[in-house]
Amino acid sequence: MEKIRDAILSGADGATIAALGIPDNYRAAHILASEATMWEGVASENKDPRKSLHVGDVATPELAPDEVYVAVMASSINFNTVWSSIFEPVSTFGPMKRLSRESDWAKRHDQPYQVIGSDASGVVLKVGSAVRMWKPGDHVTVHCNHLDDQDNTAHNDSMMAANQRIWGYETNFGGLADLSIVKANQLMPKPAHLSWEEAAVNALCNSTSYRMLVSRNGAAMKQGDVVLIWGATGGIGAYATQYVLNGGGIPVCVVSSDEKAQILRDMGVQHIINRKTAGYQFWKDEHTHDESEWRRLGGDIRDLVGEDPDIVFEHPGRSTFAASIYVAKRGGTIVTCAATSGFMMEFDNRHFWMRLKNLVGSHFANYQEAWQANRLIAKGMIHPVLSQTFALNEVGEAAFQVHNNMHEGKLGVLCLSPEAGLGVTDPEFRAKVGEANINRFRRAS
Ligand code: NAP
Repeated sequence: MEKIRDAILSGADGATIAALGIPDNYRAAHILASEATMWEGVASENKDPRKSLHVGDVATPELAPDEVYVAVMASSINFNTVWSSIFEPVSTFGPMKRLSRESDWAKRHDQPYQVIGSDASGVVLKVGSAVRMWKPGDHVTVHCNHLDDQDNTAHNDSMMAANQRIWGYETNFGGLADLSIVKANQLMPKPAHLSWEEAAVNALCNSTSYRMLVSRNGAAMKQGDVVLIWGATGGIGAYATQYVLNGGGIPVCVVSSDEKAQILRDMGVQHIINRKTAGYQFWKDEHTHDESEWRRLGGDIRDLVGEDPDIVFEHPGRSTFAASIYVAKRGGTIVTCAATSGFMMEFDNRHFWMRLKNLVGSHFANYQEAWQANRLIAKGMIHPVLSQTFALNEVGEAAFQVHNNMHEGKLGVLCLSPEAGLGVTDPEFRAKVGEANINRFRRAS
């Protein structure tokens, strides 16, 4: 892999890169099937990714005709990195076993280990015999929608595909590694003004927020819409906030610290709620809601913006869901992609049906949505929200920080790239976009 890295860093052309060959094994962050029950009896918050995430060599799988090998320069931590490492809500070895039954090529995914990671930026090393849009040497980012496009259900909206999976979460050979194997239809052009790690953190969260808010498959936000955004400086929230600002909406952002509120003010957000200071207690105890607290949140939103939200960007799940349903405007939309705090929801349906609200389930993004979201990054209209960068060997620590909500925005991971800041091929456009925009979430260290 060193030869590959040196060639990329020296700006070698595609033919030179193609001639280097593919190593038999590569360094990868992985979890082990033999440890899938290691957290039995341990409370979620005490499960420590530093103990279950390993970094070491794994064998390079053969390349299927519709796949490419990517030299991964950088990757990122997603919340699914946490889910994988704490084996919640289920161990991911089950989904991979099911995948392995689909075809001879799919059998490769059934291993005693799983290389995790659902984001990457890097360079195409080799393409399978059926790949026609990409070639060795291309600088790419990778989105995580993994599907079999021979299945009729994978067409129209590919997120509706019966066999849709998230690469590096429900499949093997993910992006937190020096090498990855991805389907050609996961590739997108790397934004030229960004470094490897800035380019690597976007695809999963940016595309998810795009579908949730901008796409007709999500809430289809329009100008002037008031949008309540939970976790507005977290992975998906930080992109959601940018989409609302860019699209002429009015964000009402919820965060849990003054530092996060300051980032939002710097982005131009006017309406911010600090949920820690407000001290909302939507649940009296594990089984009992406190409706007066839903009303208090609704009142706080009205005090700030003078009306109820047209859209609620929901993902904390059980802890906030009933309040989200309550505060949405009559006829408004609650769009949800997750349930970080618990997935068994309960809400007062009277507020939902009597006020004719809509609930939209959303999951990642189809290729077209991911491409559009990537294009907005490439045009400098949406910016990466990278706050810190870790080495691949520190992946456990990085996942630990996300699990414990110690971060803002996204945490980048350097894989083959030896240091941060490399990979910018259009410095003039970078200067035009502005370091302040690109580095908005960067932590002083
Ligand atoms: P993240 O970076 O940890 O951000 C989540 C934010 O939510 C946190 O920063 C926190 O912000 C807020 N939050 C956490 N617990 C909360 C609670 N109980 N009540 C209110 N706010 C809470 O994670 P992320 O990357 O944004 O992902 C968020 C969720 O979406 C995860 O469950 C993830 O798995 C899921 N997700 C799903 C998809 C999909 O395709 N379906 C894609 C991406 C992510 P404050 O502390 O500042 O309020």
